[in-house]
Amino acid sequence: MRMNGFAAFLMAVSVGCVDGVVDVDEPVTSATSQDLLGGVSFGGDCTPGKTGFLDTTVRYGRAVAVSRAFEQCVEQAMFAGVSHPGGGWSGRYRQCNGEPFFGQSFEVQLGAVLDAARSGNDILLNCTGGGGNASTSLGAYDRTDTESLNFSGWLDAVYNQPRAGAWPNSQAAGIVWHEMMHQHGYSHGANDQANAITACGYAGDATWNFQVNTMPYLLGNCVSAVLDQSASTCGNIDSCPAGQTKLVTSYGAATCECVADPKDSVVARTQSSFMHTTTAANTGGSLTTLSHPLLDGHSDAIVQFQHVYSGTYLGYHPVAWYNYGTGRWVIQTQTGVMPLGTAFLVRIGRGVVHRTTTANTAGYITTIDQPLANGNWGVTLTVSPTPYAGSSSGMLDPHAFGTYYDPGTNRWTIFNQDGAAMPINTGFTIDVETAHNRGLHYAHVVTAANRSSYMTRLSSPFLDGKSNARFFATPNWTRGGNVYNTNEFGVWFDGTSWWIYNEANGTVGAAMPIGAAFDIEILKDEVQRWVRVPESTSGVDTGIDLTTTDRVHVHAAGKLVPDPFGGIDGPEGTGIASGWPFPLGSASDFSLIGQLPGDGLFAIGRDLWRNGTSSTQRLSLRTNDWWLGNGSGFYEAEVRAFR
Ligand SMILES: [Zn+2]
Repeated sequence: MRMNGFAAFLMAVSVGCVDGVVDVDEPVTSATSQDLLGGVSFGGDCTPGKTGFLDTTVRYGRAVAVSRAFEQCVEQAMFAGVSHPGGGWSGRYRQCNGEPFFGQSFEVQLGAVLDAARSGNDILLNCTGGGGNASTSLGAYDRTDTESLNFSGWLDAVYNQPRAGAWPNSQAAGIVWHEMMHQHGYSHGANDQANAITACGYAGDATWNFQVNTMPYLLGNCVSAVLDQSASTCGNIDSCPAGQTKLVTSYGAATCECVADPKDSVVARTQSSFMHTTTAANTGGSLTTLSHPLLDGHSDAIVQFQHVYSGTYLGYHPVAWYNYGTGRWVIQTQTGVMPLGTAFLVRIGRGVVHRTTTANTAGYITTIDQPLANGNWGVTLTVSPTPYAGSSSGMLDPHAFGTYYDPGTNRWTIFNQDGAAMPINTGFTIDVETAHNRGLHYAHVVTAANRSSYMTRLSSPFLDGKSNARFFATPNWTRGGNVYNTNEFGVWFDGTSWWIYNEANGTVGAAMPIGAAFDIEILKDEVQRWVRVPESTSGVDTGIDLTTTDRVHVHAAGKLVPDPFGGIDGPEGTGIASGWPFPLGSASDFSLIGQLPGDGLFAIGRDLWRNGTSSTQRLSLRTNDWWLGNGSGFYEAEVRAFR
């Protein structure tokens, strides 16, 4: 499989630096070692210079492959298409004849391609012998042997070129991941449109293009795009602690984070958020002054907030803005006095600012143009009013607002619930959450069963019984019964459940309308680890100590041969629980299982959600195999603990 035209597609690299970018989410690393992408080796045809270049390239690529920005790019490219920095476009994904998950659902295909992009296989990079920019052969999706590719003269031409932004490493990383998709069975039909369109099954369809619609291009271009975008937004991508790469916090975001190399470490992600309670010391008149190292002096911080009831009602249309006089961010009520003893959840460093203009605003509606949301009905939007953000001036808008998806323009919008005109030159801070982290964000619809007068009760394993849960709610007209709720609202924990309640003018608000809907985005810190679980192991240390309050997700892929007698099993095993002598008799034979020193063995399979442990315990993984070392292959598992 060759890659003609790929160079031209991504050569336009934007280079630049945004002053005052707020750095958030510094991860911690642990010393235990496991592999993502297995071992990397180089052909005898690679000079030391090329080996060094490719080693750096693959390290960048690994950090991208585990990043949120990459997941979002791939998901949006597959579902609706996505634009890249410096021009270029990938998607929508349209499967090519013969692909490994041909004809299956979007969710299945998205999960499968993310698994392939994070394969634990060893990889051999040869520096010569390739066609186009590089080439390889078409492989099988579930292979566990060494993957390989051959670069062409392209590598000679670029490896010692001066770095421009993240190029040429960004393009080289895109090439590696493009070829890996071929090694996992994904094709683009041929290396020219005339033959590819027929081979992939789209003869006569002028809207299909092999460099736009197929998985190898889509995925490789997302790897390149995240690196190019990070260099453009964050400056030097090497300006993190050793071994970490500075990447955008989400696709198209204005903020950056340091991402640990997943080959060697637990990747930690921390939400930069805090609870602010109004006191006599920080509050006067309509204003309460926030204080946080990522806010103080940072006029360009990305700020979102949510009113949390702690004894005092609000309902005065609060907004957040930066006070240049004091160098502090404030939350200000638009229609009343800021009460003492009320609380706000404040999040920093996630999302983008939308400003209303005559071009994007008409009547009571303003239309959002965001690469991750355009054309994608399924995203979760969190919106906070920040009237002066990204501007030296701005208009107030003292009205309850919500979001809705306009199927005519295929764009998300923000609208005033009471139909009042949306002012020109006001601002909203918007965070877009895509499907991959579903469960941490979802739509809540008000029903007779969950409503009590002016309140509606939420239900989620991340919220129920958790007094310290942090979340945002944003009214979404599209999700429920197309119902308006002209009241403002707050959130409240009653000791058991979280509620959204209407409030107005310092007291309770009107009845919560049945059919009204809210996008809920739950903020969790997260530690994440990829481990390879070979047939021969009696326990692979994940490096993660699970705690009593964690919510844990394990996702696994890969194949192994458990013994000389046949049967290649995925992490779900054979589906038969044979009992003795298997280590966990109640679990499927040869499936992936977990191991805790205090709580014992537990079944995992391909996907498992579970609550934390009875005490803090280190998690290790193994196969449910009673005779170890007489087979081959391995499972690959992604472990995530949300806390
Ligand atoms: Zn290709």
